[in-house]
Amino acid sequence: MKIPFLDLPAANIEVEDELVQIFRDALRSAAFVGGPQVEAFEKEFAEFSHSSHCIAVNSGTDALRFALIAAGIGPGDAVVTVPNTFIATTEAISQCGAKPVFVDIDEKTYNLDPGKLDDFLKSHFASNASPRVKAIMPVHLYGQPAAMDEIMAIAEQYGLKVFEDACQAHGATYQSKNGSTQTAGSIGSAAGFSFYPGKNLGSCGEGGAVTTEDAELARTVRMLRDHGQAKKYYHDLEGYNGRLHAIQAGFLRVKLRRLAADNERRRQAAARYDVGLAGNPNIITPYQAPQGKSVYHLYIIRTQKRDALQSYLAEQGVATGLHYPVPLHQQNAYKNMGYHTGDFPVTEKVAAEILSLPMFPQLTTEQTDYVISKINAFFG
Ligand SMILES: *Cc1c(COP(=O)(O)O)cnc(C)c1O
Repeated sequence: MKIPFLDLPAANIEVEDELVQIFRDALRSAAFVGGPQVEAFEKEFAEFSHSSHCIAVNSGTDALRFALIAAGIGPGDAVVTVPNTFIATTEAISQCGAKPVFVDIDEKTYNLDPGKLDDFLKSHFASNASPRVKAIMPVHLYGQPAAMDEIMAIAEQYGLKVFEDACQAHGATYQSKNGSTQTAGSIGSAAGFSFYPGKNLGSCGEGGAVTTEDAELARTVRMLRDHGQAKKYYHDLEGYNGRLHAIQAGFLRVKLRRLAADNERRRQAAARYDVGLAGNPNIITPYQAPQGKSVYHLYIIRTQKRDALQSYLAEQGVATGLHYPVPLHQQNAYKNMGYHTGDFPVTEKVAAEILSLPMFPQLTTEQTDYVISKINAFFG
């Protein structure tokens, strides 16, 4: 049996006729940038993520960058995030002019560790370290919400803004201690989502969105994505070319209608992996924090024999991934940050042991059974 890591054609084939119709309509109306598809998508995605405002942009990276710029984060500021994420998180911070600073992750959830965050901020604000931390960017990694109750409380204590990197967490929910069920992307000052094809909500190209409760921030992001103009050729500020294409908005509307069901299919596949691998003492399966309900963008296991297991699975026809093989503070691009190996021991340890198993809504029981049996066979 051959099992892909991600079966994107299968997802497209499920809605092929609808996608073709969107493309045909776009050709005939020649509405390629902005317009009713984009507006309708923004309204529908705001509703889906329980946010007052959604501004569609060209990528998740743009979404995070525009949210920071619109909030006034820039040169002279620092933003705390984790070294265990995709580089777009820190690109957004650096490219608004701020400095990314890292705090290590929790070994169970792989998300920002609130205890370490508090320790870091305590000593940061007790010293005259510069630049000063102005914001926190937690990442809801692999689809599991970060510890938002704790992070929001710490942010309030130190007067910091929170920007959620929700690029892997469309529709993930968080049970707050105050009793409310919150949706990833609706908790902090603003959030960035990505609609890169492989994300839980994926376009057929690039795409992203900012969600926020802040009307003023929303207004500024709208201008930033469109050359700083609210009215054509009248530029209140210098912006960017960061608009979502109308065809992608149309495709995303089709896929959004299936997203809740698709997330449920991912959860079912995850539950099958959980059960099938539970008895294997060589493997750590994903931990589900009681407050967070993951949408399993990725299903990550951990083992000391990661490299050998990955090669074995490849021989057996099972494609796997590493998310991420090299922590950001150890990347060549960030040598100048001044971090060293050993600075973030949990991230470094985890990076050597993680393995991402095939995960997508169309994954069948036959396929998960095959993956499970091969993993268990590898360990004898
Ligand atoms: C995908 C992703 C991004 C960036 O999204 P793009 O649409 O590719 O720009 C940012 N952060 C995380 C955690 C991601 O997974």
